[in-house]
Amino acid sequence: MAMDELYREVILDHFENPRNKVKPESFEAHEHGSNPLCGDKVDLYLTFEDSKLKEISFQGEGCSISQASISMLTEITEGKTFEEIEAIMKDFKGMMLEDQPNPFEDDDELEDLSSLEGVKKYPVRIKCALLGWNTLAEAIKKHRT
Ligand code: ZN
Repeated sequence: MAMDELYREVILDHFENPRNKVKPESFEAHEHGSNPLCGDKVDLYLTFEDSKLKEISFQGEGCSISQASISMLTEITEGKTFEEIEAIMKDFKGMMLEDQPNPFEDDDELEDLSSLEGVKKYPVRIKCALLGWNTLAEAIKKHRT
């Protein structure tokens, strides 16, 4: 199977079977994000513990790229420290915005993020892929200040 096709299937799988897509009964913080250009929306529900993201889930609607990226984000960041999350965000944004090489390809835990690399060929869709990440960054910033 060609890589492009494989990546499309990864995105479609997250879009059709989103992970952690639920509004929990209790949460500590809520952050809303939107991408008016495409009509993407996300609500993140978060619980923190010390300097960790203990729990994350979401509700959202929009295009497959935005929603798949958010689904991946919740799987990857739950249980991680803020420093670990910031390092992953930096790598992800580097890949999407700065033409840095894909750092996720041989990483068992993060390899789903590789599937979004092709999106950077379509500049208007980069905002879709980054929506959840920017929303999480904002929530963590608020929590830490
Ligand atoms: Zn979109």
